[in-house]
Amino acid sequence: MLFLDLSKMLEEIEKEPSRLKMMTLASQILDKTNEKEVDVLIYLLLGQFGATYKEIDFGIAEKTIISALSKATGMDKEKIEKELRKLGDMGLVGEQIISGKVQRSLFSKKLIVAEVYSSFEKLAKMAGKGSIDDKTNILVQMINNASPIEAKYIIRIAQKNMRLGLANSTIMDSLSLKFLKDYKENNIEEFEDLKKDYGEDVERYLRYKFKEKIESKYNIYPDLGSIAKKLFEKGSNGLRDIGITPFVPVMPALAERLPSIGKIIEKLGKSIVEPKFDGFRLQCHYDGKNVKLFTRNLEDMSEIFPDAVETIKKCVKKYPIIFECEAIGYNEKEDKYYPFQVTMKRKRKYDISGVSKQIPLRLVVFDIMYLKGGLIDKPLLERKKILESAMSPNKNLIFPENIYSDDVPRIQKFFERVLGEGNEGIMLKDPNSVYTAGARKFAWVKYKQSYSSKAKDTLDLLVMGYFSGKGQRSKFGIGALLVGSYNEKENRYESIAKLGSGLTEENLENLQKALTEIKEKEQPKEYVSGINPHVWVRPKYVVEVLYDEITKSPTHMCAKEEIGGLALRFPRLIKIRSDKNKGQVSTTKEVLGMFKLQ
Ligand code: ATP
Repeated sequence: MLFLDLSKMLEEIEKEPSRLKMMTLASQILDKTNEKEVDVLIYLLLGQFGATYKEIDFGIAEKTIISALSKATGMDKEKIEKELRKLGDMGLVGEQIISGKVQRSLFSKKLIVAEVYSSFEKLAKMAGKGSIDDKTNILVQMINNASPIEAKYIIRIAQKNMRLGLANSTIMDSLSLKFLKDYKENNIEEFEDLKKDYGEDVERYLRYKFKEKIESKYNIYPDLGSIAKKLFEKGSNGLRDIGITPFVPVMPALAERLPSIGKIIEKLGKSIVEPKFDGFRLQCHYDGKNVKLFTRNLEDMSEIFPDAVETIKKCVKKYPIIFECEAIGYNEKEDKYYPFQVTMKRKRKYDISGVSKQIPLRLVVFDIMYLKGGLIDKPLLERKKILESAMSPNKNLIFPENIYSDDVPRIQKFFERVLGEGNEGIMLKDPNSVYTAGARKFAWVKYKQSYSSKAKDTLDLLVMGYFSGKGQRSKFGIGALLVGSYNEKENRYESIAKLGSGLTEENLENLQKALTEIKEKEQPKEYVSGINPHVWVRPKYVVEVLYDEITKSPTHMCAKEEIGGLALRFPRLIKIRSDKNKGQVSTTKEVLGMFKLQ
């Protein structure tokens, strides 16, 4: 496909506010492509390079783009910077400058989507001395060949900020739309069954069902580019080829919450009860030779935790295997876990060997998804048995202690004891449940200390913007944050609180650095808010927020359509959740559920 054709269609999506129309536009793009380039196209639509779990970092700073634009057009860097201050988006600056260029370069040639992508791939591999110049030259070449609108999107790809407002879920919608006819032909019985229930609406429901199937594949193989390629190659039956694969992370199962142990037992019945350890989650892949470790966010952390890699090689006896654990800093001398803040020091990328000696990790292994084949459809009790047969524990790798009970006072006692030992609470798990990849279902229910005190639970909310600070805080330029929940159905973030409490100097300093880099001149397309902060920011950072109560509010937009708006009373920042991304924000549906539970 010509990059110019794609750019024109991207612009249409960018201008389109309706999610439904965006889906149709995206599926029109899919209609114009083929199995050779569809994966690349999907990554570009999502503004990412490769599947989320192996995304490439270009390392292109704004400065580099400014030099490339200046080199390609002969315009002064200062003038470009001035334009940037005016327009607030480097892509628009590029578009404007190129459209003012009298003549296109003599040797300019038409850009092809796959070529643009591979130029970026080449650029991403450049490292070390002189690499900035080489990267600039590749950008100059692309910009020289670009029309104004192409220049806009090349720059936005370089910045990994397409501003299209497309989410994974919209892409899945478009794929299901494109292959619906084929799916119907291959599943005529399902179609006839649905027809009995839904009559004329049958096509719509069939598409939902098909989208659910795509989503369930995504949850065990989170790479929409590859999934789309399979669909293009083999039609809807191509989904059958996608299964759990060692070294491709599975989307982690998530826990529900309920307000009391009694309610949890009512819902789950007799449960496996384990401590909820306060470290960070690691998904481990091992084939007898290589180990890969993924965070909850699917980030590859294998290089950062060499001690965990060694532990796995020592303890795990059967493979290929995929299992999950909570990694916690462990003080061997005192036989005690370090607190969460200390454990988190392990998540840094420098002095790895020093810090791994200082704060060694213990892996508390709680689930298994694969052993020589997928296991996620097996009941938890069976998975646990397989897990225990696959490894020999030592001081760095253990299985969690547990009780199997429906006796509420006994579980309450267990809860109090494990809290005293520094854990965050307990996890109650349905022994018959399958592994619910990527979903928050009632297979696991968490019960934390905060539920039992006066304070309520915490929410993980997106930072949508900030208000400038007064007094002491003026030094950082941030007085409060505007935070919001994620509405999955509409693919948008809905404001829920102005958050000014709990912002320590350290937090403010970190936030200032992080948020200035992602400032937006205008309210991002996927935000709805009743109040306007002084500065909007791109959807990127997640904060954990404690509150006293969820109340109805005409000011905020969270669940506006469902209930007229919800807000948090006395919100305060607990921490910046660097282990979560914009896709893992608490959903409006969850907030609504918690509001009803109060
Ligand atoms: P939270 O903010 O409560 O930690 P979360 O949003 O990060 O939650 P949840 O799905 O709500 O994720 O809670 C599950 C998390 O609890 C897991 O990601 C895991 O890191 C942690 N955890 C600690 N102990 C266990 C355990 N025994 N079994 C499963 N998960 C555990």
